[in-house]
Amino acid sequence: MGLVIYFDGSYVQEEAAKVSVFDHGLLYGDGVFEGIRAYHGRVFKLKEHIDRLYESARTIQLKIELTHEEMTEVVLETLRKNDLRDGYIRLVVTRGKGDLGLDPRKCPNSLVFCIAAGIRLYPEELYEKGLEVVTVATRRNVPEAMNPRVKSLNYLNNIMAKIEATMTNSPEAIMLNNEGYVAEATGDNIFIVKNGELITPPPFVGILEGITRNSVMELAEKRGIKVSEKVFTRHDIYIADECFFTGTAAEVIPVVKVDGRAIGDGQPGEMTRNLIADFRELTKLDGPPIY
Ligand code: PMP
Repeated sequence: MGLVIYFDGSYVQEEAAKVSVFDHGLLYGDGVFEGIRAYHGRVFKLKEHIDRLYESARTIQLKIELTHEEMTEVVLETLRKNDLRDGYIRLVVTRGKGDLGLDPRKCPNSLVFCIAAGIRLYPEELYEKGLEVVTVATRRNVPEAMNPRVKSLNYLNNIMAKIEATMTNSPEAIMLNNEGYVAEATGDNIFIVKNGELITPPPFVGILEGITRNSVMELAEKRGIKVSEKVFTRHDIYIADECFFTGTAAEVIPVVKVDGRAIGDGQPGEMTRNLIADFRELTKLDGPPIY
């Protein structure tokens, strides 16, 4: 049996969840979304994800008919309908049906749908061994054109970078901004460790302000680690002691090689391993219960 999907006000079988060819989410990537995780019967940082969804929608002037509370219930109920206590949730709001022009005023009703499924991005052994990745030529969108802080349905910038990475058999790409400062990976934020300090790019560089990123910064501060948001370059990654990515799907994952250079001693570092453990503990405690 397939999944039960929340689609435009009702819960339907996945075969019945069909989007119109006139939906501007499809025609133009006009919409916003969230990727959310449920762990041990709780939805991790659900409030933060719902808030970010509405903030993204506000910037693109997309009206969502549901309230925050109703949207929260959609996520919880979709999990219940699929009998999931652990899983990945994709919450999407598109501009809805319009004509073939760009004008969003021709789209009277936005469309909300929610998919909950069991997904795991990387095999467990990569959390112990770490990822080997590359930096790519495709630059992260400049905030002045389309701000990466908006989690929009237009992911072509990230997809172009992902294509470059996969051509070299690299599982991820590190993207730089237009000035050559490190921004983020295609679906994850990046951290480096240097002399005991944890460093990650500030949002103005042009990144999605990841919810996992913020959790990890808090966890590090609780450990008494100095955490800094500051710009850095590829060179700083090469000479870092440790490097890792954070994201809802990837969680906290070590990066041990970048552009063929071993980071530190080429093994996941101690701070990275501690933060992976802290993060896994946090996922047991945080967020509203599904039942
Ligand atoms: N950057 C990008 C471009 C992403 O798509 C994601 C995944 N949502 C992230 C960073 C990580 O954000 P989060 O921790 O909120 O999943």
